[in-house]
Amino acid sequence: MKFATRAIHAGQDPDPSTGAIMTPIYQTSTFVQESPGNHKGFAYARGKNPTRMALEKCIASLENAKHALCFSSGMGAIDAVIKLLNPGDEVITGNDLYGGSYRMFTKVFERMQIKFHFIDLNNAENIRKYINSNTKLIWVETPTNPTMQIVDIAACAKIAKESKLWLAVDNTFASPYLQNPLDLGADIVMHSVTKYIAGHSDVIMGALCVNDNQLFEQLAFIHNSCGATPGPMDSFLVLRGIKTLHLRMERHCKNGRAVANFLAQHSAIEKVYWPGFENHPNHKIAQSQMKDFGGMISIVLKNANLEKTFKVASSFNVFSLAESLGGVESLINHPATMTHASIPKLEREAAGVVDNLLRLSVGVEDIDDLLADLNQALI
Ligand SMILES: *Cc1c(COP(=O)(O)O)cnc(C)c1O
Repeated sequence: MKFATRAIHAGQDPDPSTGAIMTPIYQTSTFVQESPGNHKGFAYARGKNPTRMALEKCIASLENAKHALCFSSGMGAIDAVIKLLNPGDEVITGNDLYGGSYRMFTKVFERMQIKFHFIDLNNAENIRKYINSNTKLIWVETPTNPTMQIVDIAACAKIAKESKLWLAVDNTFASPYLQNPLDLGADIVMHSVTKYIAGHSDVIMGALCVNDNQLFEQLAFIHNSCGATPGPMDSFLVLRGIKTLHLRMERHCKNGRAVANFLAQHSAIEKVYWPGFENHPNHKIAQSQMKDFGGMISIVLKNANLEKTFKVASSFNVFSLAESLGGVESLINHPATMTHASIPKLEREAAGVVDNLLRLSVGVEDIDDLLADLNQALI
């Protein structure tokens, strides 16, 4: 079945005991057994919960994956992937990562003797220079956050296969509607479900999707053993939100395109980062691996110091100044002091995250109101 149909129906059958069309919120920690070990497939809710299971089947279906696991946050999902590794193992990743991923890699896992190489992934061939006998994992984000660089997933997958490495893709910015990394050869897809998949800024959740049965068993073991599993109420909220993922994404893309084109010709703007522009360095790759270009846009303000940038960031009426992205409402964020504050200034600026950069998550409001709001804030 097609994406829109799967978004609404995958993993969900009417409740067998009542016929309820929506999967009930199984708000229970444990399940009664007839005799020891004799139960209906559910024993303790950290391991398995029916509401969560329906959501996992739905997310797996949208990523064309055999298996999915939901976590209590996106970071919980990333944590589980890195726990596949052992001390001495090495990871090759981008120099333009989500700030929280960078913080976890450098502040938590480097202490446990896992080594990370943060490199320029605009040309995937760069990866080869950093591969050695300890390398186990390539971790990429595309589009990247906040400068919207595009990483060639199929090219990374080819390198990973040749060297027997895992390729994991953080697919949060694209959502499964725009891009399906497993189809391009990735081994693991990670989502901050908090963002586009849930879509309503009311849940924190993460997910991993895989095809390989053995890799799934390893991740499921870490999932249950380490315990970053989400509750049934949050699973229900995401099941509800996911039903409109395709509709929301269509509008995010349409509004995103209009906002990007408007900003590109605005006199207060020095630069607009959006992969849909033909002069974006990896536009062709974006075109080939994504269905459309999404609603995430970053801008560099012309001749603006930190004070001026703060003033602009605080003068919106429809856009809200907040961390996060992917909800129905438009958000504006100042990466240097908000989402990316944990990255040292020199590294941050080298990756283009300068003090006068603002990131927009273009929502699904009326485009006329969004453009009017930008226009009044940018003067
Ligand atoms: C938000 C985000 C995460 C972390 O997810 P949480 O749900 O906030 O834990 C990871 N990667 C990207 C690209 C994100 O935007």
